[in-house]
Formats: sequence, C-alpha cells, structure tokens
Amino acid sequence: MLEGKLLIGGKWIPCERKFESSNPATGEVLGRVCLAGKKEVTEAVVAARLAQVSWKNTGISERAGIFIRIGDEILKRKQELKTLITMEMGRPLFESEIEVLKTSEMVKYFANEGKTYLEGDAIPISPDTFSFTRFEPVGVVGVIKPWNYPMLLPLWAIAPALIAGNTVVLKPSDLTPFVGIEIGKICQDAGIPDGVINVVTGDGNTGKSLVSSDIDMVSFTGSAETGKNIMKNSAEKLHRISLELGGSDAFIVFKDADIEEAINGAVWGRFMNCGQVCVSPKRIFVESDIADSFIEEFVNKTRNLIIGKGLDPGTDIGPMVSMEQREKLELQVEDAVRKGAIIECGGKIPLSLQEGYYYEPTVLTGVTPEMKVMKEEVFGPVAAISVFENMDEAIALANKTIYGLGASVWTKNLDTAMYMSSQLECGMVWVNEICTLHPQCPWGGIKHSGMGKDLSRYGIREFVSTKHVNINLGTGKTRQWWFPYAKTVL
Ligand code: NAD
Repeated sequence: MLEGKLLIGGKWIPCERKFESSNPATGEVLGRVCLAGKKEVTEAVVAARLAQVSWKNTGISERAGIFIRIGDEILKRKQELKTLITMEMGRPLFESEIEVLKTSEMVKYFANEGKTYLEGDAIPISPDTFSFTRFEPVGVVGVIKPWNYPMLLPLWAIAPALIAGNTVVLKPSDLTPFVGIEIGKICQDAGIPDGVINVVTGDGNTGKSLVSSDIDMVSFTGSAETGKNIMKNSAEKLHRISLELGGSDAFIVFKDADIEEAINGAVWGRFMNCGQVCVSPKRIFVESDIADSFIEEFVNKTRNLIIGKGLDPGTDIGPMVSMEQREKLELQVEDAVRKGAIIECGGKIPLSLQEGYYYEPTVLTGVTPEMKVMKEEVFGPVAAISVFENMDEAIALANKTIYGLGASVWTKNLDTAMYMSSQLECGMVWVNEICTLHPQCPWGGIKHSGMGKDLSRYGIREFVSTKHVNINLGTGKTRQWWFPYAKTVL
C-alpha cells in the first residue's frame, strides 16, 4: 500500500487527514495520501516564496540545466512511471509510455530553448535614447492540473515556470496524487533546491485554498466549470491566470479526403485514452456523399477495439477514470437516445467487465445540436457522427459550440484546408492529422476552452512579466515637453 506525504520546503511531511487513490480497472485501493488543507497550502506557499528569492538569482543556464537532468531521470524511471500512471488512471501501458516519453522530450525542449525565448528585445528610440525589455519571473505559481495526462500536464507548466525563475506549488488531481508525488521526487533527485517545487495533494478544496493563497499566478488545466471558479476566486487577488479548459472539437471530413486515413484517425482520436482527451474529436462531421461508407467502416473498426485492463498487453481501451465520469457519460448517451439518436454500437457497460469503470466504445448517429453530446464536453468513449452538405454548413456546425479548443479538417485540397483553418473558431487546427502535440508549437483554446498558451515560446512567456527599461544617455538639461510650457514651441 502506497503512503503519500506533502512536499513542503524540501521535506516530505505527513498529515492527519488522508484520502485514498484507487485503480479504476479494479476499484482496488492503491494507497493513502495527504489531504492538504488551508494550513498546509499556506506553508507550501510560504516555502515557495522564500525559495524564490535565491532561485530567481540563479542563472537561467543553471536552472535550465537541471531540467535536462529531469528529462533524463524521467526516461530512467520510464517503467515504474508508466505502470503507476496506468494503475492510477486506467489507460493502456502503451499510451502511458507515450506520455512519459513526451514529458521527457517537452522538459528538455524548454531546457534547451528557454534561455533564447527569455532574451529581451533592444528597441532604438533616438540617437541618445534606447529601450530594452527584460522578462522577469512572476513569482510563486500555483499549478493545478487534471488526471488525464497526470505527468505531462503538471510538468508542461513546472518546466517553463521554474526555468523562467518562478517557484511552484503543485496541486495534482485527487485521482492521480501519486503521479504528482513522483514529479516532486524526480525534481528533488535531479537537484531542484528545497522549496522551489512543493507538492500539496488534495481535492477541489485544496485547489481552492491554493487559488486564495498568497501566490502570484495560477496555471490551471481542467474543466471549464472549475476554470470559471478559479477566475472568480482569482479576481479577488488579481492573480495572473492561464486556463486550459475542456473542448468539443469538430472532426470535418470532406469527400475528397483519403477516407481510410480519416476513419483510422477518427477512431484513434476519439477512443484513445478512453475518449478522455481535451482535444479528442468529440463531434464528427462527414460530407453527405461519403457518409454511409464512412459510418459503416467507423463502426466496424470501433467494434474491433479491445477493451480491458490497461496493464494487459493488447488492450486498446481501458476503463474510464471514475464512477462519477462514467455516470455523467451514461446520462449524456441516454439524453441523445431520448432525443432520437441511434446507437450504432456500444452504449453500455460491457457484460464481462462489471468490476472497474468500463464503458463500451460507442457510436451515435442521427445526433442534433440540442443533444447534450453536441452541447457539452463528452469525456468518454462516445463518438457522435453527423452529416453536412457543403462547406458553409460544415463551418456553421463546427462553430456551434461554446468551446473553442481544436478542430481537424480532412481534405486533399489545400485551399479548402486553408479556408477552413481561417473560419474555425478555435485555438488549434489539424489538417489530415489529429491530436498531435509538439513542444515547439503553441497549445490552447479560445471561448470556453480557456485563455493563455502552453508549450512553445508563447507558453514560457506566460510565466514572466515584461519589464520595459528606457535609458537616456544624452546630456540635455531639459526636454521640450517639460515645464515651463509657456516657453515651449513644438
Ligand atoms: P477538474 O476541473 O474537475 O479538476 C482539475 C483540477 O482542479 C483538479 O486538480 C481538481 O482537484 C482541481 N479543482 C477542482 N475544483 C477546484 C476549485 N474550485 N479551485 C481550484 N482547483 C479545483 O477537471 P478534471 O476532471 O480533472 O479534468 C478533465 C478536464 O480537463 C476536461 O474538461 C478536459 O477537457 C480538461 N483538459 C484540458 C486540457 C487542455 O489542454 N485544454 C488538457 C487536459 C484536460
């Protein structure tokens, strides 16, 4: 049985209140972990603030160098990390391994490029005067993250935040607290000084305490509902906030696309990670000429997916993360069926997998905009497919959502692709591609999918303030625009 403590000021501290983390494939309790309250959160923030003074004065090359070691350490511990991720959130080991590898790649990317991205600009003004910009750390960053990529998402904030000279208090998801604790241990082992990273495990109230504490910024990834709560609570303190929220991405297939490739992409995009991905194509729109054959083959491929325990080799789809998430999904499917949608396959808990939180990969057709599956974020293995007649209709349907995270367009015509990319209301567009992530490319949405960017040069600049310095090297005793105005001629 695992035992989880809090990392505060470089020490692992036990606590009185605890909660359990369990395996969604079996319901088995994996361990008990600290439930941090206001007191512990305050202590962590004080430790982070103390540590920030010397950390920000450590050279950026030294700070970045530690992240090369963190990237190596992640690779060294790949086996144990991927197993822990699968045990805490259920997905197939293969997908957990990809997360571990991507995390190492991303951390090293910021270690290698961070210094260049934080070099200020020189701005000439006049023969005697010039300006420059300096990027300075924001201070103490509260990093609050979800369970669906429990290693990648915390570290894609921690790496740029720390390299930029901030210190961090991490609040991992209550469903994956032990992965959060491992992040703390890896950082410590790689040489991050005491107090520079602190880990407070806990639930939504722990997150709320962190948002209301003496921090300078919240870097949040999670649901739109929690994002709105954070924004409200941050208003009181005027924290800087970065919000990466949910999505209901459109997947638009034109008749000139490579249909087989589009179907393979749609099935993988929708069902990997058991459909629990922010940029998963939650609404699939197919041009009418190819709709019947697309749907038939999509359903065939969905029926062939192997559902089972993430630890079993050969599993394509593991359980959902929790009973609560599964119940929400069941209600969304029931609502669609009540309003006329057709279940082409799936739509129930598999008979052979009653233990754990499994749900059959499901395909719905005949869906309409007023159904919950089209209005809300569907965070589970359910694909909703509908048909469009022309490009204008595809654009209107795709944009008919409060979300604006990503979208994908499938066509061989580059003009169609370029036009669609300009018309879709979202932060990321893939063309003949789906759900790829590159550390050098910006990540983030608009509308109810949030604000701010992660990854890339834009991501690291979320964690700094831009200071403008203006210098006059001239010898003038006064300026044309100073007093007295009576003698001034412009
Ligand atoms: P969630 O909003 O329920 O929880 C996220 C984190 O916030 C958890 O650590 C939770 O304990 C904490 N929290 C809950 N209430 C809080 C409060 N009032 N104040 C502060 N913190 C609080 O989300 P989830 O179920 O863990 O994650 C799934 C969601 O995350 C989906 O909507 C998904 O689309 C989104 N997501 C978005 C991205 C992106 O890049 N845009 C990436 C991954 C996941």
